Amino acid sequence: MLVQKNMIFYIFHSLTWKLIFTIGSMMVIWGVLFTYLFIANNPQVKTVEVLLYGVSFVIVISTALGIILYSFVTKPIGKLVDAMGKLAAGDMEHRIELKNKDEIGILAGSFNSMSGELKIYKEKMENWTKELEQEVEKKTAEIMRAQEQLINAEKLASLGRMVAGVVHEMNSPLTGIITFAHMMLKRTPEDRTEDIEDLKVIIGQAERCSRIVSGLLGFSRKAASEKKKTDINDLIENTLMIVKNQMKFHNVTFDLQLDKGIPDIIVDPNQMQQVFINLLINASDAMEGRGKVTIATSIAKEEDGDYVEIAFHDTGPGLPPEIKGRIFEPFFTTKPTGKGTGLGLSVSYGIIKKHEGQINVSSQPGQGASFYIRLPLRTKEAPEINTEKARG
Ligand code: ADP
Repeated sequence: MLVQKNMIFYIFHSLTWKLIFTIGSMMVIWGVLFTYLFIANNPQVKTVEVLLYGVSFVIVISTALGIILYSFVTKPIGKLVDAMGKLAAGDMEHRIELKNKDEIGILAGSFNSMSGELKIYKEKMENWTKELEQEVEKKTAEIMRAQEQLINAEKLASLGRMVAGVVHEMNSPLTGIITFAHMMLKRTPEDRTEDIEDLKVIIGQAERCSRIVSGLLGFSRKAASEKKKTDINDLIENTLMIVKNQMKFHNVTFDLQLDKGIPDIIVDPNQMQQVFINLLINASDAMEGRGKVTIATSIAKEEDGDYVEIAFHDTGPGLPPEIKGRIFEPFFTTKPTGKGTGLGLSVSYGIIKKHEGQINVSSQPGQGASFYIRLPLRTKEAPEINTEKARG
């Protein structure tokens, strides 16, 4: 039943059948008319014969016409319809193979070039979308990083204020303890060895506290500094000469990628060297004394001006995400008691801030750590000198 219904549907909707019906009915009408006129003018001819020839003629002509129409019209149009369906379903590779030079052939050619162009546009769109997604991802990561840095900077700034207060309050009592302990030590008779030992412990511990306090001065940015024109590349090379002789660095190799074109900048060379040493000691500790440290200098251009960038990459285990945001805090350390004070990076942070610069870390666990220091070519304190050097 369904097959029959489909058949009828096909016959009524097929272009070939429509054409056959139209031409066939025209031929039947004209055939009947001519037969009638022929019989009327030739009464000697038998009607049955005329009808037989007439009907056979109509059937043969209609069939021939049907075949011609199917081959030259319906079949190519069917191919076009099929190709359109495939294109609509997203298949842009499909092409129509037609040799016809007529309008249908031209239509197929246009279809082929249209789907070719659509394919190019689709690829372009896909590339744009991919690029856009990558750009969005990059910008999102940048915003997240900036936000993280802002939060850290705010946290460290308030810690800095607190530390500055503590340092100020602790300095004079500590100096008092050390001075008075020394005075007591002088007054103590030599035979009271136990008291002498105790006093020495007091002096030793008080001096240790004093060292921590001076360390904190760096972080709280209260320490005085002596800034002068400095060749950063030379300073790095000098620092390496100092550290290379230490046991800690005997199995560490250094790869220097210094941009010799960077101009001198105004920094306190001693403080800057302290930052470099802190970063190198941390790298060596992280690599357990064996690995490679790459130090690279370059010029980084930012919206607010040009910076000298000094990058330290190590081949250690890197930083787990949960500690990355805390490493610049004073007293934060993952090293065993007695080995780390947790002041190296916080002091370095304070020094870099005092130079109107930035210090950042980037690290994927297992892929080493990279510390980036950026120092401005033009500072508020010396706006001209660095710019002139940069031009020269
Ligand atoms: P300390 O060295 O006394 O621990 P720092 O402030 O210099 O103090 O460093 C804080 C912490 O940051 C270290 O204890 C360590 O966990 C982490 N850290 C610093 N540098 C690196 C590095 N290159 N690789 C892995 N972790 C590091």
